[in-house]
Amino acid sequence: MTPFDYVRANTVGEAIRGAGSRDCYFLAGGTNLVDLMKENVERPSRIVDINKLPLREIEDLPNGGLRLGALATNADTAYDARVEKRYPLLASAILAGASPQLRNAATNGGNINQRTRCYYFYDTATACNKREPGSGCGAIGGVNRMHAILGTSESCIATHPSDMCVALAALNAELQVEGPNGKRTIAFSGYHRLPGDAPERDNALEDGELVTAIDLPPDDFTKHYTYLKIRDRLSYAFALVSVAVALELDGDRIEDARIALGGVAHKPWRSNAAETLLKGKACSGADFEAATKALLHGAKGRGGNDFKIELARRAIVRALTQAANGTPQSQSDKRIA
Ligand code: SF4
Repeated sequence: MTPFDYVRANTVGEAIRGAGSRDCYFLAGGTNLVDLMKENVERPSRIVDINKLPLREIEDLPNGGLRLGALATNADTAYDARVEKRYPLLASAILAGASPQLRNAATNGGNINQRTRCYYFYDTATACNKREPGSGCGAIGGVNRMHAILGTSESCIATHPSDMCVALAALNAELQVEGPNGKRTIAFSGYHRLPGDAPERDNALEDGELVTAIDLPPDDFTKHYTYLKIRDRLSYAFALVSVAVALELDGDRIEDARIALGGVAHKPWRSNAAETLLKGKACSGADFEAATKALLHGAKGRGGNDFKIELARRAIVRALTQAANGTPQSQSDKRIA
C-alpha cells in the first residue's frame, strides 16, 4: 500500500476543505476503498475520514419524501420502519446485496460511489482504461461473463455493481451534494456516467464534492413492486442481471411504470420508451414483452456475456409479472416466484 496522509473531519465544511484533488478520497465504511488500496488499484495521496460527520440520520421531508443520510449504513436504511413501509423496493434491493456484515458497515454514500467489480480493474498486471486511462481494456476479447450489454464503449464494458442504486434509479431519487462551490442537487438518473471515452470517471461528482444525502420522492409504490436479482449463487454475489420494477395500477391498467436494470450497464439502466409503452396498458404478457424489447434495444454481447441478453429478457418479464401480481421477490426465501 502506498503511504498517504490521513485526516479526520468533524464537519462537512472541514471535509470539503480537506479534500480538493482527484487523488484525495473520503473514507466512510471503507468496504470497497480499503480493498482497492490494498490491491494498489487506488493510491490516494490523502484520505479524509468522514465518519464523524452528522450525516447518519434518516428523516422525513416536508414534501412527504424521505432523506437518507449519506453515512446511514445500508442495514440501518433497509430496516428503518419508514423505508420498509414506504419504500419496500429500496429495502428489498439493499437486502439483496452483499452480506449482513458488509451491510452493517457499508454506507449509503459509499454504496452509490463503489467501483466496478471488473476482474481486470482489480488486477494491476492487466490493461484497464478505467484504472489506467489509455492502457486498453482486458475485458473486451477477454473474460467478460459479468460485463455490460448496454451503453458500452470500445474503451470499457464494465458494469456498476450496486443493487441499492437500481432501486434508487427506479424511484427517481435525488442526491444532495456539497463541494467547494456550494451545494447542488443531482437527479439520480444523471449521476452515474456511461463509460464513453473516459471510463475512469464513474459519476458526475467534481473534485472535492461530497454526497451528503439521498432524497426519495413521496411516490407510493408499496403494493406493486419487486427487486429480482439473478446471480451465480444465492448470496454474496453480484448481479448477472437484476430488475427493479415499480407499478401503479388502476385495476389491471398500468398508470405508471418504472423499470431499472442492474448488472447490464455502467449505470442503472432505464428506458423512457419502455416505460411509456406500458402506461395505459393491461398487465398482459404481450405488453411486458414489448416493453422488454424496448428496454433491451441495442443490447450487445461480447462473447462471454452473450447469454445476458436472453437472461435479461426473461428476468424483466418475470419481474413485471411479480410486480403486477403484488408478489414481490423475497430476499430471504430466494426461490423465484
Ligand atoms: Fe477496465 Fe472497464 Fe475494461 Fe474492465 S471493462 S478492463 S474496468 S476498461
